[in-house]
Amino acid sequence: MNILAFGAHPDDVEFYCAGSLLKYAKAGHRVFIALTTSGNIGSNVIEGREEIARVREAEQREAAKVYGAEVRFLRFDDEGLQDTPELRRAVIDAIRWAAPDVIFTHFPGDTSTDHNVTGTVVGRVMLSLPGKNIPSGEPPLAKAPSLFYWDTSAGLHFEPEAYVDISETMDEKLRALAMHKSQFAWLATFQVSSLTEHCRIANAFRGLAIGRAYAEGFRGYRIHGYMPDFKLLP
Ligand SMILES: [Zn+2]
Repeated sequence: MNILAFGAHPDDVEFYCAGSLLKYAKAGHRVFIALTTSGNIGSNVIEGREEIARVREAEQREAAKVYGAEVRFLRFDDEGLQDTPELRRAVIDAIRWAAPDVIFTHFPGDTSTDHNVTGTVVGRVMLSLPGKNIPSGEPPLAKAPSLFYWDTSAGLHFEPEAYVDISETMDEKLRALAMHKSQFAWLATFQVSSLTEHCRIANAFRGLAIGRAYAEGFRGYRIHGYMPDFKLLP
């Protein structure tokens, strides 16, 4: 299968679904990553938005190597994402590029604006994926992928419908997340836990629900023709 993880910022994919992506990669599936922004305001230390984006894209490419994933950067501005025709076209192009069987993205109830808009637009273009008259640089999709929403930060406003046991891949997940080195100083300006500790606590909490050490929680997206197939989760 082809698996597409569609995030808003570098580090989102590692934070929210790397444990599951590692299980897919170890089972021989192909992993793709697409990001709507390159997180170009995500530092108070690095000078300039272009330089922040350059550093963060390099970190994302390093992290992607743990799943052997190809990465596509859509390069919209961080913290400024809006549902526009330009964003929709770029999202459609990215989904068609990956030709996924399974898509993961942000939950539309996530109150971070970029997360919210990314997850919302991925859902809104699902019916546009097979149409040859939809403006796109990529060919229409011949299959209907299953779309799953990953968790929110600290699990706020999110009740999982399905859990993936990631106890076996948790250490590797945290190593991949730690490759986003620029984010440790940045997040310390407004959070008490480090990026990796925050993630460990969140996945340990979801693990409690299924009686395992660590888990990632997901919800399915539903619209006619695109019911989520939970059996495709690893
Ligand atoms: Zn984010």
